[in-house]
Amino acid sequence: MSIILLGSTGSIGVNTLIVAQHYNIPVEALVAGNNIELLNHQIRTHQPKRVVIANKEDIDKVEHHNVTAGSEAILDLIEASSSDLVVNALVGYAGLAPTLKATQLGKRVALANKESLVTAGAFIDMDLITPIDSEHFGLWYLMNNHPFSKLYITASGGAFREWEPEKMKDATFADALKHPNWSMGDKITIDSATMTNKLFELLEAKWLFDTSTIDAVIEKKSIIHALVEFVDGSTTAHFAGVDMKLPIAFALKGEVTEPILPPVDLLGIGELSFAPIEEARYPIWSIKEHILNNPHLGVVVNAANEVAIETFKKEQCSFFGMSNIVLDAYRHFEDVVPNSIEDIITIDREVRAYATAL
Ligand code: NDP
Repeated sequence: MSIILLGSTGSIGVNTLIVAQHYNIPVEALVAGNNIELLNHQIRTHQPKRVVIANKEDIDKVEHHNVTAGSEAILDLIEASSSDLVVNALVGYAGLAPTLKATQLGKRVALANKESLVTAGAFIDMDLITPIDSEHFGLWYLMNNHPFSKLYITASGGAFREWEPEKMKDATFADALKHPNWSMGDKITIDSATMTNKLFELLEAKWLFDTSTIDAVIEKKSIIHALVEFVDGSTTAHFAGVDMKLPIAFALKGEVTEPILPPVDLLGIGELSFAPIEEARYPIWSIKEHILNNPHLGVVVNAANEVAIETFKKEQCSFFGMSNIVLDAYRHFEDVVPNSIEDIITIDREVRAYATAL
């Protein structure tokens, strides 16, 4: 068994290489963006046969004899690889085409790139997908073939969970990157502050588990990741440390029978509490029910959200301005219905143009 790893220099990518090394899993190819220094270090350690990076101007800086660049090169790499498992830890819409390419070739995808499912879940073969997301891993772990009535995932509440909404109006990009519990890439950290990440995870669960009876609650310690309410009236909860190596290990190995994380210290945790997700602090939550009933609109939210994050980063809108952009685009494109991947690509482009012009 070997893997190819897309997004090796990111938060998930680095953890994936730690797990791969632990299990002596060969890494056939690495794909990274701009962090060439870390990539070179990874090349020395893992000796991949091929490497792909984002920009061809950087090819000479990569210490490898077989380096190509650009999004088409990623697809060529997947096609040429002999690995049966593609770990997709790219961020954003750029991750969709590699997911489609891998699944069309019948390869399994260990999928951290949740935007693939959010934008095009209806067109992806779920039998080939294993999610790398702590909440969905927790749900899968708990379900155990018992009939369930409702699924719950938890949210930390993000960077501003203790801020008054009045103060959040002036929050900066740097403020939004201060996640209370997790150390992750910039985009998912911003998505946590707006609660867009949790909305995406509901959609992810919808496609993975084929259910819309799913909701999220705030659990500030991020120790419980998921809960399953069963038809019999009982509910079970999945406790685990704040560390992505557990879902990654299961995604790579299928089954894990040895310690990956230290056990949960119950007395160290002390009290636990659950709280609702409030629209005043997280305006995106106002479309939760509608989008769960219309999950094909994920492509609209995702495209507008990616534009909104860039706009906020450039200080051209406020923190809540991001939600305004997304909700405006959502209303504008509410009637679109993609029937194919080509439709997804067209809608994505149109939403981006609309959101950029707002
Ligand atoms: P990061 O931003 O840390 O990493 C993204 C990776 O993608 C980096 O290796 C980056 O390269 C690479 N990349 C970006 N653009 C390109 C490109 N055009 N060509 C090639 N490589 C590119 O993100 P995360 O690891 O945090 O998240 C990755 C995905 O996993 C996201 O979809 C996120 O939602 C999901 N996820 C993340 C979790 C976490 O704990 N971080 C938890 C659950 C899901 P470089 O850095 O070299 O530029």
